[in-house]
Amino acid sequence: MAMVKRAQQGGYAVGGFNMHNPETTQALIRGAEKANSPIFLQVGRAIVPHLGLEEAFRMTRHELDKSNVEAAIHLDHGTYDEVFLALKLGFDSIMFDGSHLSFEDNVEATRHIVAVAHSFGVPVEAELGKIPDAGTDVDWTDYYTKVDEAEEFVAKTGVDLLAVSAGVFHGIPPTRPLPLAIDRIRAIRDVTGIPLVLHGASGVPLEDLRAAIGAGIHKLNADTDLRHAFRRGVEQTWALGDRQFEVAMAEGRRLMIDATAEKMTEYGCAGMASAPEAAAIS
Ligand SMILES: [Zn+2]
Repeated sequence: MAMVKRAQQGGYAVGGFNMHNPETTQALIRGAEKANSPIFLQVGRAIVPHLGLEEAFRMTRHELDKSNVEAAIHLDHGTYDEVFLALKLGFDSIMFDGSHLSFEDNVEATRHIVAVAHSFGVPVEAELGKIPDAGTDVDWTDYYTKVDEAEEFVAKTGVDLLAVSAGVFHGIPPTRPLPLAIDRIRAIRDVTGIPLVLHGASGVPLEDLRAAIGAGIHKLNADTDLRHAFRRGVEQTWALGDRQFEVAMAEGRRLMIDATAEKMTEYGCAGMASAPEAAAIS
């Protein structure tokens, strides 16, 4: 949470990026080292059915232990059960996604999770409003986070970070994305006072991201752009003919390191890693 508090004070956003295997985890960590940036290393919703939460956590922890980077291992879009398993495993930060629930049930579940997580010293991100997947047909008025609900939700749950729906999709929409609802983000910031999170930041124009940061977004989640960087490395290697897996993975990792560091420059978190001594006392 110290990473995001500093971002709020400093007027920038910290990136939240998903790990998928050892090479992508290494790419994120080395990208953060290269940019001298804090980072949320996220265990996302695709890897849980593939590897399991425990294995994904151990892999991330193992790679992170080899580095001095300032990082939080974060559960992204956790279910009710996954959140408690994540607390037991030792995650640094969790997101509970109750956005499919009714407002009242989301408040109730999130409030309980916040109480338990805080007793472990773990901050909680929650989501209000729905963030649609790219390709779905959307009437945004049903999806946007409502300002009055955000105020009530944060007051009742004590959540540390709130993911808002403000015009972006998960993944990259096929057409040019809508302009972000910057006024709505600012209004939510003003009534809640907590740092806000924007998911699906891949493909959003940089000037929109900057405006969102100015309006209260201090954690930006992006996955698609980094996956595309890794994929490019793999495809370019195999386009040359048959090569060892390791050669293709190494090239994917190399391009993803650069793409990660580039995101950090865009988000303003490059150069913002705290010195190890400062991290120890915060
Ligand atoms: Zn998300």
